Amino acid sequence: MTSINQTAGILFSGGQDSATCLAWALDKFDRVETIGFDYGQRHDVEMTCRLDVRTAVQKIFPKWASKLGEDHVINLAGLGQISETSLTRAVEIGVHENGLPTTFVPGRNLIFLNYAAALGWRRGFSHLVAGMCEADFSGYPDCRIETLDAQMQAISLGLDRAFTLHTPLMHLSKAGAWELAESLGGARLVQIIREKTHTCYKGVHADLHSWGYGCGDCPACALRAKGWIEFSGESK
Ligand code: ZN
Repeated sequence: MTSINQTAGILFSGGQDSATCLAWALDKFDRVETIGFDYGQRHDVEMTCRLDVRTAVQKIFPKWASKLGEDHVINLAGLGQISETSLTRAVEIGVHENGLPTTFVPGRNLIFLNYAAALGWRRGFSHLVAGMCEADFSGYPDCRIETLDAQMQAISLGLDRAFTLHTPLMHLSKAGAWELAESLGGARLVQIIREKTHTCYKGVHADLHSWGYGCGDCPACALRAKGWIEFSGESK
């Protein structure tokens, strides 16, 4: 992989996907700053996991520790206030009449990218990295390439600076994401992602399963477990 002699800002939630993207960005860029968003998620375990992943990566991978820059947390409480979703309210996880899951937070990725670019404009970076994935079971419309391309074009025009979005997971399955992590940081990175990240929609972080922490039956846990089984060859 060719390295880029520049800084990137990564949308970093503390989940499996963004932790994998963090390793990818640290491998590719000279310097990486992490960006988190507090939009009133029902479960603040994610916010704790973000810092745990950063600390573990710094400790285990000295070559990456020197590249890992500031962490930024942007308060988007207003987004939580206008979102009636399973991630921000006590709404049952299910599917809306329009076919979108109740975990869909309208406009979330579009807003995240705007804020990340605004931060980059101030701090002098124009590369953004994010874990959107078209293969995601949910089919979130703001994870699609067409949406992201249009948004990045609007951002580049609106800020009068060419911003580039990198989405290394876009065409990978969840098993493929584990494979990417292993290729970047071997078994030690896989272990960090297994043990330090949080993906569960219900915020359950009690028992460590072979695939990580979580309730084991929400859609996010089911997807994560399925990907792990495909990747590891473990039987159910
Ligand atoms: Zn779960």
